[in-house]
Amino acid sequence: MNAVAVVAVDAPYEPDGRYSYLVPPALRPKVVPGVRVVVPFGRRRLEGIVLDVATAIEAAGTADEAAGGRLLRPILEVLDDEPPFTPELVRLAVHLAETRLIPPYRLLLSMLPPAVKTEERRLIRWNGDDGPIIALPEEAEVLEWIRDRGPVALEAILRRFPAAGPIVDDFLERGWLAEARVRKPRGRTKTVRFAVPNAAAPALREAAASLRGIRQRAVLETLAERGPTPVAELLRSTGASRSSLEALVDAGWIRFEARPLSRRPEVDAAWRRPAVELTDDQKAAVRAIEGALDGGDRRPILLHGVTGSGKTEVYLAAIEATLARGRTALLLVPEIALTPMMLARVEQRFGDRVAILHSGLGAGERHDEWQRIRRGEASVVVGARSAVFAPLADIGLIVLDEEHEASYKQEETPRYHAREIARWRAAHHGAVFVLGSATPSVESYALARAGRYRLVTLPRRVGSARLPDVRVVDLRKEGGGLLSRPLREAIAERLRRGEQVILLQNRRGYAPVVLCRRCGRAIECPHCAVTLTYHRADGALRCHYCGYEQPMVDRCPFCGNPHLIPLGGGTQRVEEALLHSFPEARVLRMDRDTTGRRGAHAELLGRFLRGEADILVGTQMIAKGLDIPRVTLVGIVLADARLGLPDFRAAERTFQLVTQVAGRAGRGELPGEVIVQTYMPDHPSIRAAVTGDVAAFFAAELAARKKGAYPPFYRLAVVQVDARDARVAREALGAVTERLRMAVVPETIVVGPAPAPIPKLRDRFRFHTLIKYKQEPELASKIRRALREIERPVRRQEVAVTVDFDPETLF
Ligand code: ADP
Ligand code: ZN
Repeated sequence: MNAVAVVAVDAPYEPDGRYSYLVPPALRPKVVPGVRVVVPFGRRRLEGIVLDVATAIEAAGTADEAAGGRLLRPILEVLDDEPPFTPELVRLAVHLAETRLIPPYRLLLSMLPPAVKTEERRLIRWNGDDGPIIALPEEAEVLEWIRDRGPVALEAILRRFPAAGPIVDDFLERGWLAEARVRKPRGRTKTVRFAVPNAAAPALREAAASLRGIRQRAVLETLAERGPTPVAELLRSTGASRSSLEALVDAGWIRFEARPLSRRPEVDAAWRRPAVELTDDQKAAVRAIEGALDGGDRRPILLHGVTGSGKTEVYLAAIEATLARGRTALLLVPEIALTPMMLARVEQRFGDRVAILHSGLGAGERHDEWQRIRRGEASVVVGARSAVFAPLADIGLIVLDEEHEASYKQEETPRYHAREIARWRAAHHGAVFVLGSATPSVESYALARAGRYRLVTLPRRVGSARLPDVRVVDLRKEGGGLLSRPLREAIAERLRRGEQVILLQNRRGYAPVVLCRRCGRAIECPHCAVTLTYHRADGALRCHYCGYEQPMVDRCPFCGNPHLIPLGGGTQRVEEALLHSFPEARVLRMDRDTTGRRGAHAELLGRFLRGEADILVGTQMIAKGLDIPRVTLVGIVLADARLGLPDFRAAERTFQLVTQVAGRAGRGELPGEVIVQTYMPDHPSIRAAVTGDVAAFFAAELAARKKGAYPPFYRLAVVQVDARDARVAREALGAVTERLRMAVVPETIVVGPAPAPIPKLRDRFRFHTLIKYKQEPELASKIRRALREIERPVRRQEVAVTVDFDPETLF
């Protein structure tokens, strides 16, 4: 009987891209869920991933294309011997395709480190034809070179003969050369030659004593002590020669073996901390997690602990408890900005059992870490967002640190939320799910209040550290530009005392707006409906949305007036103001512009930690997690920067950012102070952050969310359509929206189509429709069907659709 496979294919025009293919009998044993295959698609051949295999009769129900009566086309090739995806992750991908319209191919691919992904290579060989060859001398040289080598990769030919591309194509056409296209993983595990002892340590030592050569003796002693050791290292440390090693091999004491070398990421030891005795609050939190590990209350745990309450120690103890029960643990942290610190602490505690996954690693390191997890050699994984897909087996604990962080949501396809994936995986493994934060998201807080999450609190800072005093500077009354007088005085005092300062300005560049004094117009991106940001450091105007850049102009592009005003202040301008007021201060700036290079994050933070600078200025990337004892002042240059945006989460984000960055102050012995500059001192989110009154913030925010029909009272889904022509986009979305309105239940609110908050981006006009719902069964299928209203020709050529469930922001 024929088998049919459901394959995820990267087909851009279908919402999720699952298709059925016939499994040729010869390939049957290799076609299992999770392997990569090559399938025909229209006239192309595409790589796909097998999601499911069934006999034809069973498949009729699941594979809708099959039911359409069209002839199924066969899978052409299987690319993996072992599936790189575990059955669990394949199931997850299918689940997200069905409920979230997330394309499973894209999702699964994004789970792999780059080096495990495959690439197509063209292997060229001589065709064995001895007929007459008419070629120019330089062509003949290429041909002979290929003939002498057998099948050789096209890149290798081009490395030797950079201009040979057309010659090879020509000869392929004439039949003198033949080619095979093969797919190969891009990176491979590196191996290293090890010397491995053939006897146990006591026997080796005994043998060593009987040897005459002192170098050979040293070799055996080293191996007795350290076990298998890379040959190069052994030669270096003992001074032995290769031949003396070989003599030991001949004598049967040792052997050589190629072993995989793990390129391990480096960890900055400066972040380590001495072991501590847990406080009573911490112990209670750990007990709650242990209870859940042992099958007690299995609800997810919301660990609400004020900044500096020692949540990290709770995570570490919980991980230890998990490992002690023979299971594995996954610790997710929001961004590479804080991983150096977290990594050092986890590594200090768990050593080689830890694997680290984040985008700041090199491809080789990521590949090796991922393989260590896949092989079961690592039982603790620490990483940022995409580490939520780490192929760990038997997960006992998943910790989501700073669970409110927006960076857990990927804002491009595949649009997944790490919190949601973590929850799914925890349920799948029967693992304990811990969400930690000093400022929980409104949604998680609401779930805790409703009893769906179990709330565990750490209400105090550990040790003698107290929460810092917070002072508000009302910018409506206080002048002084970016740095008000009280803020300048406080900085001066810290400089005098040799303490450190953190200044937050959540905007990079020099000025976000450049305005003409005469006509009042601002310089905009030619491709997007946003203003260009002035970067003074290199005299450029940049679009922070599409990357467009041009030199700064000296006249208004609209009226020619030479008086242009840079408005507002980004981090560069704050840095300038600091250097102006405090010429002697050592200032570090940390934003996307100074951390583009790999490792730059860790390096900048490391320098600040070691006291090589007095003031750290930066965007939100400095706000989180940092634990630097000598920081006694935190200044927030403009706390309300976000409150003007049309985003239902603006108040929540403001509260979180102010609270988090304030929490960086006074974490050591020295007391901390926070200065919040704002034009809106009475806004509830700023007041609550200043007074530390979390309950007051949630009360105000929940009332506002209820009134606006926003989460947690309603769930959201956004359908966005964009096209080069505004009318085409609007009409396409109009048709989809009409259809959706008819499909949803009466209680659901459908708002749109309306221009998106950024109505033009990269020369494409954007419209969106918002779906606000409480219970909407089969919403994904309803949206999928409504999208068919966009006619195929229009869809193919002009419009792009994105669907976002539970958006983090509408902006
Ligand atoms: P949070 O993540 O809750 O803001 P951290 O986990 O960074 O807090 O801990 C804050 C500081 O307190 C760190 O320097 C940490 O080493 C220290 N610390 C944590 N627990 C204890 C404890 N039980 N005793 C002493 N110091 C502790
Ligand atoms: Zn732009």
